[in-house]
This record gives sequence, C-alpha cells and structure tokens, in this order.
Amino acid sequence: MGKLYSKHSYLELPHSLYARLEKSQTTQYAIRYLNDAVVNDFNILLQEDDMMIINGNHDDLFAMAYAGHQYGHFTMLGDGRAMMLGELHHQNQRYDVHVKGSGPTPFSRRGDGYATMLSSLKEYLMSEALYQLGVPTTRPFAVLDTNQTVYRDIPQDGSMLIRIGKSHIRVGTVEYARALQEPTILQSLLDYAIDRLYPEIKNSNKLYLALFDQVVKRQAELVAKWQSLGFVHGVLNTDNVLLSGETIDYGPCAFLDEYDPSLTFSSIDRNGRYSYQKQPYITSWNLSKLAAAMVTLIDPDESNAIDLLNQSLAEFEMLYTQYYYEHMAKKLGLVPMQESDKKLIDELLELMQRNKVDYTNTFYQLTCNDYDSLPFSMVEWTLFHDKWIKREPKHDIMKQVNPVVIPRNHLVLQAIEQAAFDDNDELFRTLIDVYKDPYNYDRDVNPKFQEPNPNKERFVTYCGT
Ligand code: AMP
Ligand code: MG
Repeated sequence: MGKLYSKHSYLELPHSLYARLEKSQTTQYAIRYLNDAVVNDFNILLQEDDMMIINGNHDDLFAMAYAGHQYGHFTMLGDGRAMMLGELHHQNQRYDVHVKGSGPTPFSRRGDGYATMLSSLKEYLMSEALYQLGVPTTRPFAVLDTNQTVYRDIPQDGSMLIRIGKSHIRVGTVEYARALQEPTILQSLLDYAIDRLYPEIKNSNKLYLALFDQVVKRQAELVAKWQSLGFVHGVLNTDNVLLSGETIDYGPCAFLDEYDPSLTFSSIDRNGRYSYQKQPYITSWNLSKLAAAMVTLIDPDESNAIDLLNQSLAEFEMLYTQYYYEHMAKKLGLVPMQESDKKLIDELLELMQRNKVDYTNTFYQLTCNDYDSLPFSMVEWTLFHDKWIKREPKHDIMKQVNPVVIPRNHLVLQAIEQAAFDDNDELFRTLIDVYKDPYNYDRDVNPKFQEPNPNKERFVTYCGT
C-alpha cells in the first residue's frame, strides 16, 4: 500500500538547497481530474491524513532550489511556481508528491507563481499518455481548479497540477549545489540522490563516477525511447532533465506526424536547438554540464577527474545508439537484431522521410501487413520489402512496440482548449481513455484518433506557463 508522509526526506539536506513555505490553502480548491490509474497503481487510500498532505495543509512544504542552462545560458532558477507536498512510499521506493501552480515562492523571479488550466491539462494528458506508452516519466495525480484568473496574453483560468515522480533532482539541482561552492553541500545532495535513486551502487569505489554512469545510462534509455516513438520534448534545458531518467515538464512537447527529423514545434525554439534529431546530442551536452558540476568529487586530481568523466560521457553515444537501434529493430520485428539490420532501418527511415509519411502510422501499417496504404513507389517499396521479409519479421514483437495510437498534437490542443476555455470535457476524457492502452491491437479505435493533423501547416506549440 502507498503511504504518504508530509515530512519529506529532502528536508534533511542542507537548508540552502530549498526554501520552506507557508502552509498552503489548496483545501479550498476543487479537484477537476483525479488520476484513478495512479490512485490504483500506488494504492493510495485518500484518507483524511492523505488529503491533508495532498492539500498542502501542513508545515513541511518547500520549494527546491536549482539552476539550469536554458538555451545554453546558465541561470539561477528554483521552483518558482511549485512546491513539494510530501513523500509517497510504495514498494520500497520513495516518490515526490509535487504541485505546480501553487503560487509565489522565493524563486519566483518575475513570474506570478501560477499555472494556467491549459498548461496543467496538457501535462496531465501527455505525461499519462507517455507513461502508458512505456516511457519513464513523472505521472499526473490530479488537476485542481483554483477559481482564480491568471494573466497571460489573455486572462485564463488558474489551476494546479499535482504530480508524482521518483525524485525532482535535476541536472540543474546539481549545478546549483556546485555554484554554492561548498563541497559538503554538493556531496550531501549526491549522496541523497544515490540513496534515493541508485542504492545499488552504494558500495562502488568510485561512488560519484558510478552515479554519473547511472544517469548517463538512464538518459540514453530515455532519449532512445522518445526517438523510437517520435516524441519531441521541446525544452531540454538542464533544469528539465532529471537524474532519475524520467521525463519532466511537458510544455511545448509534441509527437511527430510526418517523419522529418529536423522538426521543432516550440514557438520559442527558433534555431531548432531542441528539434527531434538533436535530442540525443543535446542530452549529451546536458550531461556534460552535470559532469562539470560533479568534477570536484570524482578525483582530487582535476585532470584525472575530467578524463574519467569524459570516458563516461563518451559511453552515452554508444549506449544511446545501441538502445535506439534495439527499439527500431523491434519496431520492424527483427529480434534478435543483426548488425546489418541497422542499415535496413536507416533505409526505411530514408524512404519515410523522402515520402513525407506519418511516423507512427507507417509502423502501425507495417505491423498490420497493410502495405497497400503506404505511399511508397512500387520500386522503392519492393527494394526494402524484399530485404525485410528475408529477415522474417516477428509481428507479435512489432505489436509490443508500435502504438496503435499516440497523442496527436491537433487533438490534444483541441481537447485541452475545449476543456479549459469552453468547460467541455468530452474530448479530454475520451483521449485519456484512448491513450490508456496504446499497444492493444484488439481494441476498436476510431480512426480519427490515429490520423495525423489534416492541416498541413507546421504545428506550433507554446510553453504555456
Ligand atoms: P519551465 O519552463 O516550466 O521549466 O520553468 C523554468 C523556470 O521558470 C522554473 O524555475 C520555473 O519555476 C519558472 N517559472 C515558470 N513559470 C513561472 C511562473 N508563472 N511563475 C514563477 N516562476 C515560473
Ligand atoms: Mg522546468
């Protein structure tokens, strides 16, 4: 059974890593959506004590301090509109219970500390969908209606999103601890991260290097999953990268419709820094910032420390490439993968890009042996198909990794706008349900949930804070 505690273990760390906050008044807010799947999975009873914690009606609330490289530039940040409500213990794992949109904190800078209903609904829908697709992620617990107006371009309804994650320690949290220039604080933070996330490495003789290796591996796994599903996070600043390897912060994220690796959806990412194809590269860049923040703890000799970290960082590309091709080989039913399969995968992707086909639906059609609706020319298709069939693709494996349905950007936008602006929840609730079982080939799914955006103009997403 999941048990909630108001006193979070993070409060045992040095005080400069967080700011305590006043008792909150979330009690007065109505729950707009409660994620029954999370309540069930974590077996939370929602008794009076639990509600007190979830409502922030206690004295152990805090905002985490962190920094981050945003679009390449180092900035001091912190939870400017979020706070920790408590800790959830479930099956020997501790989870943060965190709320976003809860009002000003000492880290709010010029922001108001609030969140719009639109942004909370997007995170709720997308993060639960990613979870159901098998991607490590924070999970949405509830959306609250604050009955407050939040001023953005236009006045909007305010909301709070409560989410659960293995830990909200970001690469930027480590950068912050390093910037304090007090080695003991940095060390306590990393010891805590190990205890919390990677207890299995506790006896390693190069403890902090082992931690770095773990983060490299988890991030390589995470980005390989994103790439294989065509997911674009959109704002991979180091403050949005977790040491746990879970996806966090669903602002301008989107899924590819057409397979074009250069695509960026975020309105503010003008140079395509966080485009689909750059996600592995930028994750490695982000990890280099983590390495730089950890250097003093790796080895007393700085140049040794740098060498060791560089070797570990070099593993990222190797691991990422391995995981990525393993996923892609499965998408084509090629298990066990052979070295030559990589060329076949690349060939198909080239064909897909040249013909501007839908990424998800192409793999779905291949899985269903529905070749007729693929728009490839007979010649190019035959060339690929002959080689592929020789490898005897396993369709049962393909079904496990090629989703029948993914969140389509235009539908997600329509659903959250209707729910936030018109008080019409119908599509939102339908999508929550449709995205629940994305690999189920026996379920009847209305084709309109599978179709890409009929509007061929490039889809643009907004951070929507
Ligand atoms: P994000 O873009 O949501 O990852 O946020 C980046 C930083 O800006 C974090 O430190 C947030 O806490 C802060 N932030 C974003 N929106 C607001 C807001 N409305 N009020 C205060 N801080 C904010
Ligand atoms: Mg963030």
